[in-house]
Amino acid sequence: MSINAYTWIERSLKTIHRADWYRSVQTVESLPGPTITLDGRELINFASNDYLGLAGEQRLINAAIAATEKFGTGTTGSRLLTGHRHLHRELELAIARLKQTEDAIVFSSGYLANLGTIAALVGRRDLILSDRYNHSSLKNGAKVSGATILEYYHNDTEELRQLLQQHRHQYRKSLIITDSVFSMDGDLCSLPELLELAAEFNCMLIIDEAHATGILGKTGAGCVEYFGCTGQPLIQMGTLSKALGSLGGYVAGSATLIDYLRNRSPSWIYTTGLSPADTAAALEAVKIIQKEPQRRTQLWHNINRLKQLLQEQPGKTTNTEDFIESWSSFHSPIFCVHLPNATTALNVGQQLKAQGIFAPAIRPPTVSTSRIRISLMATHQLEHLQKLVEVLFSILTKEEVC
Ligand code: PMP
Repeated sequence: MSINAYTWIERSLKTIHRADWYRSVQTVESLPGPTITLDGRELINFASNDYLGLAGEQRLINAAIAATEKFGTGTTGSRLLTGHRHLHRELELAIARLKQTEDAIVFSSGYLANLGTIAALVGRRDLILSDRYNHSSLKNGAKVSGATILEYYHNDTEELRQLLQQHRHQYRKSLIITDSVFSMDGDLCSLPELLELAAEFNCMLIIDEAHATGILGKTGAGCVEYFGCTGQPLIQMGTLSKALGSLGGYVAGSATLIDYLRNRSPSWIYTTGLSPADTAAALEAVKIIQKEPQRRTQLWHNINRLKQLLQEQPGKTTNTEDFIESWSSFHSPIFCVHLPNATTALNVGQQLKAQGIFAPAIRPPTVSTSRIRISLMATHQLEHLQKLVEVLFSILTKEEVC
């Protein structure tokens, strides 16, 4: 018996509710910042990707207004038709300078950059090797491409080597894909080893710098710069929506790669060019991160200060020792408190919110295991960090949490 064309949606939604996977939105009613008004309450914000505090910065707002007044709100078509402005090219060249690559291309989002780049580079006869913890946009890009996908254990370059030894020779082309800073865990990929494997097995390598652009490396160019791998043969992708405080995505690499993507990437060709406001704001942000390294310094100061506050906090239990231990070696603004199940994670998230802290639970199916994800900003003040540690400890040291 065939199912009614639409009733299955209702059933499916019920299943989502039963599994405790149902999600709903919360409304932010203020400018982005270290504190926000959320559904009418002021909360300290530990859930933002605006790592350098640029999304509410006046110079970005002014750049967006000026570009809108000059070019309008929409670009009205594909970049290949009526959607291209000189601002797009200025931004692409600024990104290429930051990344020290020959060229760059700007997409309408980071998600679209990953979908369109992977789909342009590999197809049915090719092989993709993907870290298990990769972002959804890399995973879905791999699916859309039609290539065979093999996942390796998170950051396990030994398993990756074995997979390459067993399977590489059966495929025409091969592509390794990885986050640089893993979005939900905050740890870094092993870039030097990945580059060695890519060279040894003749593979292309895409690194997703979404959470590293503006943050890692001496000039803020990202994880590639941090590892001293600038100039190596790889494809760097990133987003304009996190530390750069705007919207959009980019790919940086050789001039030939960028020229090829302009001709073969479906999510660049068949979509409307990035809005003048978003483009101008991102361009201003790229200039700021290069001119004002103190923002990055302040973020790192906060990251180290949080680690220190945790070490100094009295009344540690095995619960809290676990994450303090794992965070101590971390090199990013993203920290996770792993929790045994979704119910506990939701409960901890709600208790944090009740005490003035916004750091919501992230749970399956978004990630494989439940956690509270905490992200730091350059604009957090000492008292914000102190309150986070105090409240987190008071919740986690209660026996019923674990
Ligand atoms: N890659 C990673 C690692 C991300 O975390 C995200 C966004 N969460 C994206 C890509 C997609 O970027 P955007 O938000 O610009 O679509």
